[in-house]
Amino acid sequence: MKLIDTHCHLDPEYFPAGPGPVLDRANATGVIGFMVIGVGQTLKPARSAVDLAAARPASIAAAVGVHPHDATTLDDAAYDELRSLASRPEVAAVGEIGLDYHYDHSPRDVQRAAFARLIALARELRKPIVVHTREAPADTLDILDREGARDVGGIIHCFSEDEAFAKRALDLGFDISFSGIVTFKNAVSVHAVAASTPADRIHVETDSPYLAPVPMRGKPCEPAYVLHTARRVAELRKTSLEELAPILVQNAERRLGRRFLSES
Ligand SMILES: [Zn+2]
Ligand SMILES: [Zn+2]
Repeated sequence: MKLIDTHCHLDPEYFPAGPGPVLDRANATGVIGFMVIGVGQTLKPARSAVDLAAARPASIAAAVGVHPHDATTLDDAAYDELRSLASRPEVAAVGEIGLDYHYDHSPRDVQRAAFARLIALARELRKPIVVHTREAPADTLDILDREGARDVGGIIHCFSEDEAFAKRALDLGFDISFSGIVTFKNAVSVHAVAASTPADRIHVETDSPYLAPVPMRGKPCEPAYVLHTARRVAELRKTSLEELAPILVQNAERRLGRRFLSES
């Protein structure tokens, strides 16, 4: 059985021993592919994600962007370098980008402007978008719609909204990606979306190093744990992990425009 972790952060601040051991443990549980997200206060994580994908092209794709937390850092110089990084063939998507009104680390108007600017970049480069949205459902959907994000589509990562949001996102050309949140007992609206979303529009992810799924709560989350998330999604859809896994791999490969193979 094979799986792809469509959203993980592997920066050295989270995994001081480097990505190697983490990737090996994931491979051992059947995780053959990874989309590594490179975002942060500077573009260093973006450069590292591209380098990692270049070093392991069979199994790793990169996504680069400016997280809404860091929206104030997107000046013209950062935009120019990000554009050249995002143009690289190792980069499968622009992201994560979006809005986060929970933490408000950047002012909301700055978040909205950065989001719009980076949707335009994705459209220019014809790459899908990885969307981060927290406590900003209406603005997120409005900006995706208004800025023509449906031309490239993408993934709503770490889905934590409800069925109405999911329906609009699907209509806008966005797939739904489930993180460890779907394994939480009280995430009732996320369970409903996991059960009802068309099979060809779903993904699984860890969003490592945060949000470890049940039964790994309390540990730093790593890509190997995507197995638990996929198993819970299968259960909610009244199917088996063995039947769901190949569909998830196909979905990720179609959306990200590449095949994933284990490196060995
Ligand atoms: Zn996120
Ligand atoms: Zn993330």
